[in-house]
Amino acid sequence: MTVNLLDFDAAGLSAYFAELGEKPFRARQVLRWMHRSGQSDFDAMTDIARSLREKLKAEAEIVPPAVVSDKLSDDCTRKFLFDVGGGNAVETVFIPEDDRGTLCVSTQAGCALDCAFCSTGKQGFNRNLTAAEIIGQLWQANRALGARPDGERAVSNVVLMGMGEPLANFDNSVTALRLMLDDNAYGLSRRRVTVSTSGLVPVMDRLRDACPVALAVSLHAPDDGLRDELVPINRKYPLRELMAACQRYLEKAPRDFVTFEYVMLDGVNDSDEHARRLLRLTRDVPCKFNLIPFNPFPGSPFRRSPSPRIRRFAEILMNAGIVTTTRKTRGEDIDAACGQLAGQVRDKTRRSGRPVIGIHEVRSQ
Ligand code: SAH
Ligand code: SF4
Repeated sequence: MTVNLLDFDAAGLSAYFAELGEKPFRARQVLRWMHRSGQSDFDAMTDIARSLREKLKAEAEIVPPAVVSDKLSDDCTRKFLFDVGGGNAVETVFIPEDDRGTLCVSTQAGCALDCAFCSTGKQGFNRNLTAAEIIGQLWQANRALGARPDGERAVSNVVLMGMGEPLANFDNSVTALRLMLDDNAYGLSRRRVTVSTSGLVPVMDRLRDACPVALAVSLHAPDDGLRDELVPINRKYPLRELMAACQRYLEKAPRDFVTFEYVMLDGVNDSDEHARRLLRLTRDVPCKFNLIPFNPFPGSPFRRSPSPRIRRFAEILMNAGIVTTTRKTRGEDIDAACGQLAGQVRDKTRRSGRPVIGIHEVRSQ
């Protein structure tokens, strides 16, 4: 069977090269060609001996997921749709800002955790992405986005916040994370790579030990009764355990706070009292809050909290000394906002034939 070299981190590639009877530095060279130069053609790897190139061509390949569509929103958010086979597609969103460029990467096709307000969850679980499919999103985005005028890569930050629960696909997510951090690959600092989880407590401990990066936790409710409804995994790992896991994580985290994500649902979790209870809940966890105005999708029963309500909610947290940001909703016109990622390849294909106001089709380069 042909081996996809994008499935390996540095250690895995060295082990594979050892099986071929090749030295570790050869693996390092190929790693750099693949991830630093974005090369997928063995023949272009000019400092690799021809005999090794032939061997690799016979046994291996470098195949990222194929770009199905690439759309640019009015606010410059860019959304890539990737075909991952079997009728499944996943989405990746690039969000440029003045001082950074953040790529929001998917880790699963669908998600089994079924949070009440999430379009990915409503779609059900299809399968875990392979490491090649996860890192392949960054590989393809770098290729499509090119370098900035100063020569730096456009993607300076990565968040595993797209479709799926990264900690439910632990091994492949960690392989991809290691490549993001590796100086022979993407060389991002741990502080610029964030995993977002809905709270798989035992796996948070594993991540801390295997590959600590910045952590975001999807909180969404200040008490177990409400969180059980909104984030069903809470029935297995309730808030007390989740807060303790956050504290344990911080012992090894590259940042000294956890980011709590909190989707603002009108009349559901957005009262002053909810905010005050959040303060009590998170008393012992150094944290920041990121409020996410709910992004509606067809068939969802929720409404977004009105802006004054979100401002008041943020104020209560900030008056208690907690840094609180409200996520600017971006890319809405191309369904690229948080929780809108559904990766319906068939729908998108049907739509792509006609012009849609506010969407500029971008050809992949
Ligand atoms: N599974 C992980 C990461 C992917 S979801 C997690 O749940 O953390 C990324 C973020 O988007 C989470 O905070 C999630 O709660 C939020 N989200 C999901 N659906 C949303 C929606 N419809 N509107 C706004 N945010 C949403
Ligand atoms: Fe899965 Fe995260 Fe959506 Fe919940 S919010 S269903 S964990 S992707």
